Amino acid sequence: MSDLRDLYQQVILDHNRKPRNFRKIADANRTAEGYNPLCGDRITVEVRVEDGIVKDAAFQGAGCAISKAAASMMTASVIGKPETEVDALFRDVHAMLTGANGGPADVGKLAVFAGVREFPSRIKCATLAWHALQAALHGAGEPVSTE
Ligand code: ZN
Repeated sequence: MSDLRDLYQQVILDHNRKPRNFRKIADANRTAEGYNPLCGDRITVEVRVEDGIVKDAAFQGAGCAISKAAASMMTASVIGKPETEVDALFRDVHAMLTGANGGPADVGKLAVFAGVREFPSRIKCATLAWHALQAALHGAGEPVSTE
C-alpha cells in the first residue's frame, strides 16, 4: 500500500473522509449498482433526471478511498448538467484514466484522478461510479419509479 500513498492526493483524501452526496434520494427516478470485484467496491448511484437535466445525484455503498472519492466528486460534478454533458464528461474521464483517444480535453477538478492511470489495478475503482451512473442514465441498470 505504501506506493499508493502518493496517489492519495489531498483532494481524494478529503472526499473519502467527507464524501459529498453520500445519501439516498427520496424521489430518485434512475438507479444502478456498480460492483468492482477486483477491489470489493460496491456503490449504488441514484439520480433524479427531469427534462434531460440531472437535478440530483447521490451514492451509497462501501469501497476503497479512490472509489468513494471518485463517486463523491462525480456526483458533485454532474448535478445540474444536461445528460448529454454528463455523457461527454464520462468519455473525458474515461479517456483520462485509460489514455484512450489521446486523453481528455478538460475534466476540471476531476484531473486529480489522472495519477490513478499509473496504477492499473485502481482504474476500475475510479471508474466504477461513472459506469454505474451511465447504467442508471441509459437504462442498463434497474430504473425505479417513485410515481
Ligand atoms: Zn477500490
